[in-house]
Amino acid sequence: MINPAELELLRDALAKLAGGYEQMPPFVPDLDVDKVGRVLQEVAARMQDNYPYYHPLYAGQMLKPPHPVARLAYALSLWINPNNHALDGGKASSALEKECITEIGQMYGWDHPLGHLTGGGTMANLEALWVASRLHPGKRIIASEQAHYTHSRISAVLSIPFTAVSVTHDGRMDIGQLEKILQAGDVGTVVATMGTTGLGAVDPLQDILALRDRYKFRVHADAAYGGYFGLASELGKPARTAFDRLPGVDSIVIDPHKQGLQPYGCGCVLFHDPDVGRFYKHGSPYTYFSSAELHLGEISLECSRPGASAVALWATQQLMPLITGGEMSQRLDQSLLAAREFHAQLGKSGKFQPLVQPELDIVVYAVKAADAVAASKGAKRVFDLAAERNLHLALIELPSEFVQSFMPELKANADTVTCLRSVLMKPEHRDWLDRITAILEDVA
Ligand SMILES: *Cc1c(COP(=O)(O)O)cnc(C)c1O
Repeated sequence: MINPAELELLRDALAKLAGGYEQMPPFVPDLDVDKVGRVLQEVAARMQDNYPYYHPLYAGQMLKPPHPVARLAYALSLWINPNNHALDGGKASSALEKECITEIGQMYGWDHPLGHLTGGGTMANLEALWVASRLHPGKRIIASEQAHYTHSRISAVLSIPFTAVSVTHDGRMDIGQLEKILQAGDVGTVVATMGTTGLGAVDPLQDILALRDRYKFRVHADAAYGGYFGLASELGKPARTAFDRLPGVDSIVIDPHKQGLQPYGCGCVLFHDPDVGRFYKHGSPYTYFSSAELHLGEISLECSRPGASAVALWATQQLMPLITGGEMSQRLDQSLLAAREFHAQLGKSGKFQPLVQPELDIVVYAVKAADAVAASKGAKRVFDLAAERNLHLALIELPSEFVQSFMPELKANADTVTCLRSVLMKPEHRDWLDRITAILEDVA
């Protein structure tokens, strides 16, 4: 779990950081080593009650360990504890945040986006939908039934009408249904999910953009989970086509804390048109005195924000630039291949039925049974027994009708079927696939 070299790297970097403050009279804050040590031991004991997220045998929810460079840079910055609200609070880390945003924008072919980091995908989507509602007051927001539930909830918070459009059997937005809704003429914004959180399905962005030409609405891409996959070389054709059209949307949300190897608390929103910055205008008398230059607090709904997140992300982007063929892109390819291989292995099993062909790195599979109730029981049993063997999976509740499109013989004696779900988001998952399937076959 712990590479001792990490702690040495941190000590060396801290010494370098302290070197920048040598002109200050010596001052070291007090520390009661015994008391703090006792509390920390308690904390460590309490923290043992977590799943082993760092390990490849954790193949469950969308939880990815941060890269060591992100963890170390984050920790390093806490000796300063910068606040990226304003330059007073985080001069250096604000500069790093702007560089991160420029590089993320370049990943989507945008030269001058307006953007910043947020606490996560929820806040980032809230800002995108808020700006959308300022540009199209009173108009409807549309997202698919498989879009993150945050969109309907944010719409409620912002008092914007919201409609969910159905999905096709592969979990992607049904474009025929979308067009029917658009004909009413009251739609302001369509949210394209670039990788749904449940199934990893990528909405057909090219078709949504084609409809925009006819019906004139804003397109917001929720790429909180999938946003980095545009860098990968191993995307299938439909996903590739959709990702290639991302430069054509109006706003994008990407969560560096999902696939971008960051500690939690790192989302990001980007707007293609920097002019939307005018909606953020405020008149705080507190945060203006250090520079005439626009600072991040003027283009963000959140006020105090962790400079540490920007520091960690910048370090990660230094180590692994956001380019196709780079290390980041290769890691994502390993996950894409792992998901495809896992899906194929499950297809050969007599005990499991893999569902949707994975577009990204999520595999959803049912336990073979005569009816929905038995399949659900089977999935929960596999979940428990696998955990006893140190293999940790996740469960997902899916409509019986959806599962039947992959298991036509299944009797639908319940509305939903509990299925198993594995997000194979660590590149190492690929090397552990045989171990994972062996445990699964055993416990089934
Ligand atoms: C995770 C996720 C969100 C919510 O983001 P948080 O970072 O959890 O707040 C929104 N949309 C999608 C597609 C997601 O995967």
